[in-house]
Amino acid sequence: MVRIVDLIEKKRDGGTHSRDELEAIVGGYVRGEVPDYQVAAWLMAVCWRGMEPGEVAALTQVMAASGEQLDLSSIGKPVADKHSTGGVGDKTSLVVMPLVAACGVPVGKMSGRGLGFTGGTIDKLESFPGIRLDLDAATFVRQLGEIGIVITGQSADLAPADGKLYALRDATGTVPNLPLIASSIMSKKLAAGANVIVLDVKTGSGAFVRERESAIELAKAMIGIGTAAGRRMAAVVSDMSQPLGRAIGNALEVAEALDTLENNGPPDFTSFTVELATLIVDLASNSQTGRADVEQALRSGAARDALRRMIEAQGGDTRAFDDRSLLPHATLRHPVLAASDGYMSQLDALTVARASIVLGAGRERKGDPIDLAVGVRLGAKIGDRVSRGEPLAVLHANDESRLPEAERILRGGIQLSTTPVRPPPVILERLGASAASPA
Ligand code: URA
Repeated sequence: MVRIVDLIEKKRDGGTHSRDELEAIVGGYVRGEVPDYQVAAWLMAVCWRGMEPGEVAALTQVMAASGEQLDLSSIGKPVADKHSTGGVGDKTSLVVMPLVAACGVPVGKMSGRGLGFTGGTIDKLESFPGIRLDLDAATFVRQLGEIGIVITGQSADLAPADGKLYALRDATGTVPNLPLIASSIMSKKLAAGANVIVLDVKTGSGAFVRERESAIELAKAMIGIGTAAGRRMAAVVSDMSQPLGRAIGNALEVAEALDTLENNGPPDFTSFTVELATLIVDLASNSQTGRADVEQALRSGAARDALRRMIEAQGGDTRAFDDRSLLPHATLRHPVLAASDGYMSQLDALTVARASIVLGAGRERKGDPIDLAVGVRLGAKIGDRVSRGEPLAVLHANDESRLPEAERILRGGIQLSTTPVRPPPVILERLGASAASPA
């Protein structure tokens, strides 16, 4: 019988685990047969010694197999999923998924709530009163088959090994490790069953991975894991040095997503969502012709209709599609004015997120309440020319006493330059399955 202490020593000394060994550690932990202290020691050994690509792929498959795994074969065609590592103003799923669905590619996603400086799609969707975001597996698959689009909260039954390991990593300083992050994210994606998975790995101050090189490495590792499990994979590394679009805060982001689906969104966000949707449609259909379909889905309103169908199917009130005043909205609007003329040269994403958290838009700890209505609407992005006295941003608040602190924080993240500044591209890198490290 395998002894866990031997496996810890093996990793401590730089060895490579077999799938059976990983099953003994992780499977044993989930079944309650291996104690926390042994798994904690093993996680730290992984942090020191790393893992081979094949080992990470095997670890991910063991984690994915630790609970329910969705079978989407009844849909009868490739199903797509997308994942973002999280950012500031990241309402991408609310536009990309309807674009993809309107092109005839079924798309289903289990999503999270916001934590710390990153927002979550599930919180944003709660801006539609009555929406159900705790669908069970059977409902998820049925809706995917019937209307081709579904978003629900992350089910605890999917990859329970990840939930247990993540809690232990959080308490033992072993979260920031590439193989552990890649296997954590991908175990949930594999268990959710999609054939086509497109990853949006954010980098910059408002991202979980700040350095561009680390984001590329993480994207390659996740592509390798998915490819080894027989999934069609692609990834982009995208900029999160400034927020995406102009709205930060749950209902404000929903309004911006709806504007975008009505061809009235910010240019950076619109082109980013079209690019990502094209990538997914091309990968699902093994073609290079998705762009025209995606653009048509946007122009014709078919994507907007797809989002509306999804929200209705999940019991949500969609009257806000026609009347934005029905979205949660704040009682106070406070402009933050430019003190001089210039070009926006810095708009630090993390700082904007901190200002919106002060207003009540985000949560510091899991389970904290949030205010869906509050946040920041940016008046300018990097590269834009601004004149003295013009609003750089408008703070949306329900509590006046929070405004001075939010404004002070926000101003700390903004810089104007006297000379023109080139806006940074949103997509920094594109990675396909062929760029993945072999696993
Ligand atoms: N997100 C995850 O799901 N897991 C990690 O380990 C890090 C980010």
